[in-house]
Amino acid sequence: MNDAAPRRVVVVGGGITGLTAAYRLAEAAKKDATLVVDLIESNDRLGGKIVTHRVGGFLVEGGPDTWLARKPEAAALCKELGLGEQLIPTNPARRRAFVSRRGKLHQLPEGMSGLVPSRIGPLFFSGVLSPLGRLRAAWEPFVRGSTNDAEESVASFVTRRMGRETYDYLVEPLVCGLSGGDGEKLSLDANLPDLKELEREHGSVLRGMRRARRASKGEVGEYPTPFISLKGGLQELVDALEQPVSERINVLTYTDVVTARRVDRTLLLDLSNGETITATAVILATPSYAAADLLEEINPDLAESLRTIPFVSNAAVSLGFREADVPRRLNGYGYVVPRKEGRLALACSWATSKLPERAPEGCVLLRVFLGRTGQEIDDATADNDLLDWALEEIESVLGVSERPMFARVFRYPRSMPQYTLGHLDRVDGIERLAGQTPGVFLAGNSYRGVGISDCIRSGQKAAFAALRYLEEIAC
Ligand SMILES: Cc1cc2nc3c(=O)[nH]c(=O)nc-3n(C[C@H](O)[C@H](O)[C@H](O)COP(=O)(O)OP(=O)(O)OC[C@H]3O[C@@H](n4cnc5c(N)ncnc54)[C@H](O)[C@@H]3O)c2cc1C
Repeated sequence: MNDAAPRRVVVVGGGITGLTAAYRLAEAAKKDATLVVDLIESNDRLGGKIVTHRVGGFLVEGGPDTWLARKPEAAALCKELGLGEQLIPTNPARRRAFVSRRGKLHQLPEGMSGLVPSRIGPLFFSGVLSPLGRLRAAWEPFVRGSTNDAEESVASFVTRRMGRETYDYLVEPLVCGLSGGDGEKLSLDANLPDLKELEREHGSVLRGMRRARRASKGEVGEYPTPFISLKGGLQELVDALEQPVSERINVLTYTDVVTARRVDRTLLLDLSNGETITATAVILATPSYAAADLLEEINPDLAESLRTIPFVSNAAVSLGFREADVPRRLNGYGYVVPRKEGRLALACSWATSKLPERAPEGCVLLRVFLGRTGQEIDDATADNDLLDWALEEIESVLGVSERPMFARVFRYPRSMPQYTLGHLDRVDGIERLAGQTPGVFLAGNSYRGVGISDCIRSGQKAAFAALRYLEEIAC
């Protein structure tokens, strides 16, 4: 590597955040020959949590498989990279999901917009809640708004407005099924920011959502369902980014950045291969705890703040079956499991019903998600345990007792940042301290959104901030 480069930006972490940042910097480097960019990744591959495997005709996503259509950044980037034709919505004909209660599946009421019920009618006929629970939820428009501006947890807000049963059996499994979190600790403002606003503006979440529906006059977005994916799996996005990135910049995989130091304005990065490289600016697109380790020497206060963001470890077990071996009709996207049920699984996704061409003819692909706060997947948990738990889950709920045609366990240690009470203030503080650390930029899912589009937005923002910084110090 060239140590004497006058304007060098190093991106640490090659997940979707770091790859996007590197791509934007590679574009800038096309127009500016003095700009040198490196991307350094611990793993032997780029993509981070995004990983797509092909196993005997099955197309298996290890981590994410879709993203939210209403967040535009991921689809826009795909189109820019020539993947527009590959974009697909989830199957509109199977657009329903279930919740498991005492081992039985109940359809989630239509209109679970923003992960909370938005329509009283479907809530009444869904059968998930007891008659008393439904009445309590329907009473929501008459519940007085809170006059207290203190931050509230997701559990507290939903229980106060819609009753405990709606929280336990509808909102908790959806919100916490995504993050593996504990709704008693998750911040409403950081996880479901629109709800507080609806209460404040309309005095009621249900009333506010009804008015928003009327105002939009039933307009449908570009896609018929709320989720989008890519025909060949999300790895297509990683590959499409990797190509222009590796043409323009130095990509080093299987290498850790171990420490970062500063000498005057220059940052020195020590790598696990024994090299030390210099940088004018560094984008840390790693989880916040990894960024903390790197910043210990440069800014210990920032490192300490970064360590306050908690993470949960989880795993996803993919299982391929012959369709004939699955007694239940898989007529939806899958089901979620409320914490109250006391089971190890968070959710089971029916990948073949959700997206096309995920399995050979006559076969189905199921994905069971495991690991949440209080029931974490630790190093001592063997892959075989995870597989057994996944098989037990689908046997008890879907009645599948045959051995799978294939099984694959994807482990994600310390993968899901928890936006707990105080998260937004913590991130404001982190950003303030990072702003006082010249040349250091933070990006990734630890801060302001865990979805693919959030990460892309964060990576782009960091790349543009780093380029602005180079211009400022050149003046
Ligand atoms: C099982 C699972 C399912 C999910 N499903 C969805 C979904 O359906 N839709 C959705 O939108 N989101 C989903 N998510 C969330 C989403 O996938 C992640 O938030 C996103 O991929 C994170 O990207 P990132 O680049 O910020 O982080 P990562 O992908 O974690 O990348 C960070 C990279 O930094 C590297 N690194 C760390 N330390 C160092 C170091 N010292 N030196 C060099 N490299 C380092 C790591 O190896 C890693 O590759 C899911 C997540 C999981 C775990």
